[in-house]
Amino acid sequence: MKVIDIIDKAKSTVFSFELLPPLKGNDTGRMYQTIESLTDFDPKYINITTHRDELEFKEMEDGTIVKRTVRKRPGTVAIAADIQHKYGIPVVPHILCGGFTKSETEHVLIDLNFLGIENVLALRGDGVKNQHVFKPDPNGHANANELVGQIKDLQKGKYLEPDLKNNTPLDFCIGVAGYPEKHFESPNLDMDLQYLKQKVDTGADYIVTQMFFDNQIYYDFVKKCRDIGITVPIIPGIKPINLKNQLTVLPKIFSIDLPGELANELAKCKNNEEAKRVGTEWAIFQSKDLVANNAPSLHIYTYGIGDNVSEIIKAAF
Ligand code: FAD
Repeated sequence: MKVIDIIDKAKSTVFSFELLPPLKGNDTGRMYQTIESLTDFDPKYINITTHRDELEFKEMEDGTIVKRTVRKRPGTVAIAADIQHKYGIPVVPHILCGGFTKSETEHVLIDLNFLGIENVLALRGDGVKNQHVFKPDPNGHANANELVGQIKDLQKGKYLEPDLKNNTPLDFCIGVAGYPEKHFESPNLDMDLQYLKQKVDTGADYIVTQMFFDNQIYYDFVKKCRDIGITVPIIPGIKPINLKNQLTVLPKIFSIDLPGELANELAKCKNNEEAKRVGTEWAIFQSKDLVANNAPSLHIYTYGIGDNVSEIIKAAF
């Protein structure tokens, strides 16, 4: 089922969560434990992240430096298909511009269609580590809007090869990312919102937000979107803090602010256990308020941890 149909049919807020594929070398056991700890709470769909190749520089015993390309978390398509077929829960694999050619993207979308997957989250991705600016693949897309355009073309049966015959349309429901505190590269929120509108005008069905810790920032963002004519559902992203160092790591990585009250409570924590308690309580507080204010869905960033998420969902719904 498509995410947009799930949201349209729902009478109240639904719940979904985001998972990372296992690190290369690991099996899927832990990931399935996380899913199984949450299936009782009726998640309506599950997002699966995608990770591009990274460059690594390794010093060898003779002192030479070897450059190598690694993909730390392969397997998104296979895992997405397995989850959907095993649990009967629709999945939303993430599709990236960065590190992929248009042709590779087309092949992934064909595979997803063959596997019965109807949803994707279309993202640009970040530059490779140590690269200050995002560089698209020479035969890839420069931004998520172009990627949405390719997916929409396939919906009309328009593949990359112009002379292809028997063009089966590939019909995906498309989500895109939005940034209530603006994307870190954007000169200002208004400009970022114009590019967000461009993705929606090209064909995105809904928006999922970057994590935020002050609901007022989300409500203001939704209002600004509506003011410029963005009418699609805007799904709030909630990240339950579970480590003490996230007090400084999350603002650095995601260019977001932590409200004073939350930051002060985390700063007082003596260990990760205490930080996880503070983070869980804060996520419950945020989630209850979002449900009360009829957010279409809660998108919980689990990063592979299920116990705090089940507590949040139990309390919020
Ligand atoms: P875009 O929409 O392309 O925007 C990127 C920047 O370019 C913005 O500053 C925007 O204002 C600007 N811009 C957009 N269009 C134009 C244009 N036409 N001309 C000029 N400037 C433009 N990353 C991963 O690697 N894997 C994941 O699985 C993943 N999942 C995510 C899930 C969610 C819900 C979110 C919010 C983010 C996720 N990310 C993931 C991170 C994301 O890839 C990065 O934040 C990335 O830097 C931006 O992606 P985007 O799709 O928002 O890009």
